[in-house]
Amino acid sequence: MERDYPLEKVRNFGIIAHIDAGKTTTTERVLFYTGVSHKIGEVHDGETTTDWMEQERERGITITSAAVTCFWTPTYDLTNKALKHRFNIIDTPGHIDFTVEVKRSLRVLDGAVVVFDGVAGVEPQSETNWRYADEASVPRICFINKLDRTGASFEHSYKTILERLSKKAVRVQIPIGLEEHFEGVVDLLRMKAYYFEGDMGNLVIEKDLTAQAGIPENIIKDAEKYHNELIEKIVEQDDTLMTEYLDGKIPDFDTLKKLLRKGVITNEIFPVFAGSALKNKGVQLVLDAVVDYLPAPTDIPPITGIDPNTDAPVVRHASDTEPFSALAFKVATDPFVGQLIFFRVYSGTLEAGSYVYNPRTRSKERIGRILRMHANDREEVKKVFAGEIAAAVGLKETITSDTLCDEAHEVELDRIVFPEPVISLRIEPKTKADQEKMGMALNRLAQEDPTFKVSTDQETGETIIAGMGELHLEIIVDRMKREFTVEANVGKPQVAYRETITGSADAEGKYIKQSGGRGNYGHVKIKVKPMTILTKEEIEDLPKNTKRSLGFEFINNIKGGVIPQEYIAPCEKGFKEGLDRGILAGFKMVNVSVDLWDGSYHEVDSNEMAFKIAASMAVQDACRNAKPVILEPMMKVEVVTPDKFMGDVTGNLSSKRGLIDGMEERGMNKVIKAIVPLSEMFGYMTGLRSMTEGRASFTMEFLRYDIVPQNVAETIISARK
Ligand code: GDP
Repeated sequence: MERDYPLEKVRNFGIIAHIDAGKTTTTERVLFYTGVSHKIGEVHDGETTTDWMEQERERGITITSAAVTCFWTPTYDLTNKALKHRFNIIDTPGHIDFTVEVKRSLRVLDGAVVVFDGVAGVEPQSETNWRYADEASVPRICFINKLDRTGASFEHSYKTILERLSKKAVRVQIPIGLEEHFEGVVDLLRMKAYYFEGDMGNLVIEKDLTAQAGIPENIIKDAEKYHNELIEKIVEQDDTLMTEYLDGKIPDFDTLKKLLRKGVITNEIFPVFAGSALKNKGVQLVLDAVVDYLPAPTDIPPITGIDPNTDAPVVRHASDTEPFSALAFKVATDPFVGQLIFFRVYSGTLEAGSYVYNPRTRSKERIGRILRMHANDREEVKKVFAGEIAAAVGLKETITSDTLCDEAHEVELDRIVFPEPVISLRIEPKTKADQEKMGMALNRLAQEDPTFKVSTDQETGETIIAGMGELHLEIIVDRMKREFTVEANVGKPQVAYRETITGSADAEGKYIKQSGGRGNYGHVKIKVKPMTILTKEEIEDLPKNTKRSLGFEFINNIKGGVIPQEYIAPCEKGFKEGLDRGILAGFKMVNVSVDLWDGSYHEVDSNEMAFKIAASMAVQDACRNAKPVILEPMMKVEVVTPDKFMGDVTGNLSSKRGLIDGMEERGMNKVIKAIVPLSEMFGYMTGLRSMTEGRASFTMEFLRYDIVPQNVAETIISARK
């Protein structure tokens, strides 16, 4: 089977935005326009269009899907079938609690449209996302949205992009009118005006020919000035053209367009567009820009992974003839087909019904059906090709961030590392009927989201949910209500403390008992010490008897069978269980290294259980003497506040045991960076608002675990008693 679309005509991109900047509205418009692109310019009756949109909405456009496929032919040549492109739009969440999700989606997309609020301009979250996109070298187009709003200013927003995000941003459009007079945009490359009419935002070019190419008289000077700025920026990409330009020779349109594309793909230029998604203005031209400027899978460098057997680097190109490799980037529950695994194919092809190899589980799994998600339906496909994004049904063992590959050509792509949850709360079903559904709902949600965990309190039997922040858990509870109709009461959020040891100690664990006729005999001698931090290479070079997992190291120093091989794994299990309940306050113990160096067994009475219990007792005993401490999550906090509240804000952060880590000017505002314990940050939003007349904002993300001071530790311990 041949591929239905040349890879050069595929665009895998995401729409990234600060919460509330208009990502949902923009995505909705994109799906609307791509769904009816053939009709644009045909429908003139405003009402019919609105009806049509309403219906679409009722049928439920799948904007929450992890990846939606749609098609677009650029508006400048609608009749040219050869220009039709396939878009795979990858969902990226907007809130800071979900930065992990942003990072994950940045892994699989080739380019992004970054949406800004045309009143506020760059907001703190946009900066964080921009930084992640920088780290991943993702080419970007900026879209300044909401230009119809009162107080909107394209120039102000554009300036905030230049100042806070990148000097490489450049206007490719300017708006015609603003606020309620916002009518259209001037394309500065073509020097043409575009107007949008009717509810559907039908595109009209050169509406008013009394002015040049429809550009109103009052902005023609600006347009010319920015046109020249744009051309200068573009020719900077090419030395020869730059020299010619300085001699007064301006390259033709096609050359400029090609060069602009090169600049965007190499992250040298971030073109800035203008519009209002809500009022259906400008979105089509952004889609044209996705075609013209964002990279195809063939434009980005090949991906490098490792051979899991030899650790040697392996390179895979976006080519159908190379061995199959793909990355599973999202597990989602679909109401119609059950569990879906979204994956991106990096090389080779994959057929429905065939087997894939998972290097993590070291096993093969059969792919059932392969689906492509469209705005309102699912398309079953027989085969997917390099560079494409699709969803698989039937993979039971695959989780987010797993590589799927050809068994004969193993490769493991970089894993996406997810942080452990830092906050937890108790959750209780409202009624008996909710009880049954709650467990199912929470498990589903946990499968989808690797930073969300569900557990049961062993003493009280209550259900505990844990995640990356207050809002993260709020949304989970809300989704449970909306998607699974489960009503629940939740407790106060709790910090996920940990314990660790700061010294080393020896201990001996003996479990020797006669129960009924049968005996039990387990006996171990161990040494515990803090786990040292090692580089990736050092971990790979560790001796064979040393095993590392997250927060736990096990060294098997048993010689001459003083403990038979079959009891070693039970010992390891026992150590892990012993570390689950910390010495000081019962929090999970992390970063403990356990060296099992001696012990004994009994021919008849020894069994797995006895060794497990002996190991668990020994590790608890040893840690008690190894200077245990409590650890707390520390957050990186950034507050943006008007100058005059600076003293109050920093004073308040210091009183929260915060460490002020930096300060900078940002336009009229001050930015305060601090490192603050999470336990002090609950309800900070409300506190900050009242302290600053509602004019400051903040973001926060998990940084690391630190030892809590003695007096705080005492409070935590007594609260747990
Ligand atoms: P998201 O949080 O980024 O997904 O943002 P939404 O798309 O949900 O938009 C947030 C709010 O801004 C909603 O009330 C939208 O109706 C509104 N909004 C989105 N785009 C525009 C726009 O272009 N103009 C105006 N005036 N409002 C908009």
